[in-house]
Amino acid sequence: MIPYGRQSISNQDIEAVVAVLKSDFLTTGPVSDAFEKEVARVAGASHAISVTSGTAALHVAYNSLNLKKGDEIVTTPLTFVATAATAALQGARIRFADVDPDTGNLDHEAAASEVGERTRAVTSVDYAGQPTDIAAFRSSIASPHVALIQDAAHSIGSLHHDQPVGSQADLTTFSFFPTKNMTTGEGGAVVTNDAELATKCKRFKNHGLVRDLDLQIEPDTGAWHQEVHSFGLNYRLPDVLAALGLSQLQKLQEFKAKRRWVFEFYSEALSEVDGIVLPVRTPLTDPMWHLYPLRVPASKRRAIFDGLRAQGIGVQVNYIPAYWHPVFQDMGYKRGQCPNAELFYQQEISLPMHAELSEQHLEKTVNALKKVLDHV
Ligand SMILES: *Cc1c(COP(=O)(O)O)cnc(C)c1O
Repeated sequence: MIPYGRQSISNQDIEAVVAVLKSDFLTTGPVSDAFEKEVARVAGASHAISVTSGTAALHVAYNSLNLKKGDEIVTTPLTFVATAATAALQGARIRFADVDPDTGNLDHEAAASEVGERTRAVTSVDYAGQPTDIAAFRSSIASPHVALIQDAAHSIGSLHHDQPVGSQADLTTFSFFPTKNMTTGEGGAVVTNDAELATKCKRFKNHGLVRDLDLQIEPDTGAWHQEVHSFGLNYRLPDVLAALGLSQLQKLQEFKAKRRWVFEFYSEALSEVDGIVLPVRTPLTDPMWHLYPLRVPASKRRAIFDGLRAQGIGVQVNYIPAYWHPVFQDMGYKRGQCPNAELFYQQEISLPMHAELSEQHLEKTVNALKKVLDHV
């Protein structure tokens, strides 16, 4: 089976991990620091906080806003459920706004119309790697009480108007799961230009511990002393994994070029095929493509998906609208509320997209797709 996504691991990556295994620090040590510095540099942000997953990154980001029960978050349904679940776990009510029917990204005007007095954040998702136009969100949503969060699980390495993803939103979150643009196995990061938010993120991922003597209530107790001022969790990314991430970051541009080549190969090879809609790149964006989201007639999607899998093409569907999950249905969310996102989901099939694909893999995928389209 040709997988829809997978990691690319080199000998250099393996050596970097082995070096940490032989060193004094398996977890938070010098390599985590170096990795965070490099993530911040790539993202064009002043602070990066590494964590154990993209889900942890979202949880840490929402926690830094001190969400209270009854606060609201506006987000897209066309995402992995973690984008909404982590805010719901903090007690927030989730308001879903519809997506742009061409890109699948949260529509800034639809989002603005869901913003009310209790809204604390709007979370966009860079669907398939195509970056959010943060400036457009800022002009539609002018309130200083509403933070802009960018779930950039798909888009580390993407640019919008020449600005790297991570440099524009108040908080940006990354995932380093193996199918993403680069990997640490499990892992993630939050980046921000706001020093206060960065401090809150760093504390929450480390049990809420305050180690800075200037900030402690009883700093004179002794060298062992540490204080917890608000509860936190342990979301620390081990140095063993940070070493893999640091090594992977050196190949980000190589991965980006390879993913662009895959994108262009499919777009060229499928340009004359009837009855399908190919993904489009919007002006001013330079995406690091995470997915190739093809759209087919909704009534045939299941047969096309099954037909491709039967031919060894590991296609995927991204995503079941978040509020279709029973947990949201039980809370009274109704199907039909975001018709663009629902139609996008019903038509979508993600073709294999990663840096390990060869021309033969792509030809096999294209031929399998053409064959199955002729038979459904
Ligand atoms: C993968 C993903 C996440 C969660 O990241 P994990 O590292 O798997 O926890 C969140 N949001 C989106 C859009 C994702 O694709």
